[in-house]
Amino acid sequence: MTDTKPDWHQRARSLVIEGRAFIDGRYVHAVSGLTFDRASPIDGRVVAQVASTDVADVDLAVAAARRSFESGAWSRQPPRERKRVLLRFAELILEHRDELALLETLDMGKPISDSLAVDVNSTARCIAWYAEAIDKIYDEGAPTGHDALALVTREPVGVVAAIVPWNFPLIMAAWKIGPALAAGNSFILKPSEKSSLTAIRIAELAARAGIPDGVFNVLPGFGNTAGQALALHMDVDCIGFTGSTRTGKLMLQYAGQSNMKRVWLECGGKSPNIILADCPDLDRAAAAAASAIFFNQGEMCSAGSRLIIEEPVRDAVLEKVIAASRDLQPGDPLDPATRMGAIVDDLQLKTVLGYIEAGREDGAKVLAGGNRARQETGGFYVEPTIFGDVRQEMRIAREEIFGPVLAAITVKDAEEAVRIGNSVIYGLAAAVWTRDITRAHRMARALRSGMVYVNCYDADDITVPFGGFKQSGTGRDKSLHAFDKYTELKTTWIDLS
Ligand code: NAD
Repeated sequence: MTDTKPDWHQRARSLVIEGRAFIDGRYVHAVSGLTFDRASPIDGRVVAQVASTDVADVDLAVAAARRSFESGAWSRQPPRERKRVLLRFAELILEHRDELALLETLDMGKPISDSLAVDVNSTARCIAWYAEAIDKIYDEGAPTGHDALALVTREPVGVVAAIVPWNFPLIMAAWKIGPALAAGNSFILKPSEKSSLTAIRIAELAARAGIPDGVFNVLPGFGNTAGQALALHMDVDCIGFTGSTRTGKLMLQYAGQSNMKRVWLECGGKSPNIILADCPDLDRAAAAAASAIFFNQGEMCSAGSRLIIEEPVRDAVLEKVIAASRDLQPGDPLDPATRMGAIVDDLQLKTVLGYIEAGREDGAKVLAGGNRARQETGGFYVEPTIFGDVRQEMRIAREEIFGPVLAAITVKDAEEAVRIGNSVIYGLAAAVWTRDITRAHRMARALRSGMVYVNCYDADDITVPFGGFKQSGTGRDKSLHAFDKYTELKTTWIDLS
C-alpha cells in the first residue's frame, strides 16, 4: 500500500507565497516598495517577503473601501445576496484548506494538525454562520402610541478596519470579517506583521467568491505604521481590534485624536482555572488544565494560565497536570503527530523565557519544563512549564505571559479562589470545577469574566459571545451580538396623526 499522507515539508518547499497587499480587488506592492522578511518560527528561515504598508497605502485602501461602500455594490445588496457570496467565500476557504493550514503553520509555528482541524475549519464555519444569519435578522417596530410609527433599523457602520494579532491569524480575522461583511460594511484587514500570510491569501478567495472590488482589503505591515495610520484615519468609521491591552489603550487614544471612530477591543487575559476539592473528575480537570495552558503553545488570550487549586486536591491535581505536560513536548510543527509547536518569533521567545526567569527569581518552584527546546533547529521552542508555590503578588501570577507557562496557586476555599481569581487587571475567562451546582452558579456570578466555564475549559461555539470584562476589552466577538459592533441603530419616527 502506498503512503498517501502529505509530506508537509515537501509541500512547504513548493509553496508559492503571496506577500503583497490587496487593495481595491488586486494585489499591489506597497507604495514605498518596501517589504520585510518573514522568518518561520519553525526553523528561523525566511519564507516570504511581505509588503510593508504605511500611510499612503492606508489612504488608498480607505478610499477604495469608502468608494465601494458608497456605491452600494455590497452595502445595499439584499442580505440573501451577501449570504450567497459569503457562503461561497467559506467554501473556497475549505477548498484551500491544506494550503491555508500550511501557510498558518509556517508563519506562526502552530502544529499543522491544529491548523487543519481547528484554524481553517473554524474560519470557514464562522464566515458561513454569519452568512446564514444575515437574512434572518429583522428590524424592530417600537411600541409607540397609535399616532406614530417608529422603526428601529440597523445600518452598516461604513468602513471597518480590523487590526488583529498573530496567535490565531485566520480565526481572529474571521470573527470580524463574518459579521462586518455580512452586515454590509467595507472592510480593511491589518494582520499582525508576525502572521500576514493567510490574511493575504484569503483576499483573493474573497474576490473569487464575488465580493466586489474595494469591499475587502488587506494591508500587511507594522503596528506603528499601517496600524496606527488606520486607527488615526479620519475616514475609518470603526476599528475592530484584537491584541494586547497596551495596544488596545492606544486605539482609544487614536480614536479620540481623530474622528471618534467606534473602537471595539478584544485584549489580554490572565484567566483563573479553579479546581475545588469536590471536583467531579480530577483526571478530566487535569487534562483540561494542561490543554488550557499548553494548546497553541499557550499563545491564547483565554489561556487558563493561573491554576487555582483547593488545598486537599493540590498534590493530586499537580501530579496529573505534570504528567500531561510530558506528553506535550514541542515537536516539528509540520509533523502531523506534533501537539505543541514553535513560539511565534525570537522576541516572544525572549519574553516567555524572561518570565520563567522572573518566576524562579521570585521564589516559585519549577515543577516541569522551564527551558528552551529544539534550539538546534534554529526555531523558537519552549518546554511546557509549570510553576508551583506561586503567590499572587509574583509577576508570573499577575501578568499575561502568552506562552506555555502555568502558575499554580493553592487556596484554602472557594471564597479565596474567587478573590484571587478576580485580583488581576484582566477579566476574560475563568473556570470552576465543582460538583456543587449552587456553588458553581454563585462562583460564576462572582467571577468578573466574560466567559465562565463550569467543569470544562475553553468550551467553544460560534453561537456564544467571546470577550472580556475589565482590561480584557470592550464589546464581544462571535454570536449575533457581534453585529452590535458593526452596525449603527437608526430610529425613524413617522407621525401618523
Ligand atoms: P499587539 O497588541 O502587539 O498587536 C496586535 C495588533 O496591533 C497587530 O496587528 C499589531 O501590528 C498592531 N499594533 C501594534 N502596535 C500598534 C499601534 N501602535 N497602532 C496600531 N496598531 C498596532 O498584540 P499581539 O502580540 O499581536 O497579540 C497578543 C495579544 O493579543 C495578547 O495580549 C492576547 O491576549 C491578545 N488576544 C486577545 C484575544 C481576545 O479575543 N481577547 C484574542 C487573541 C489575542
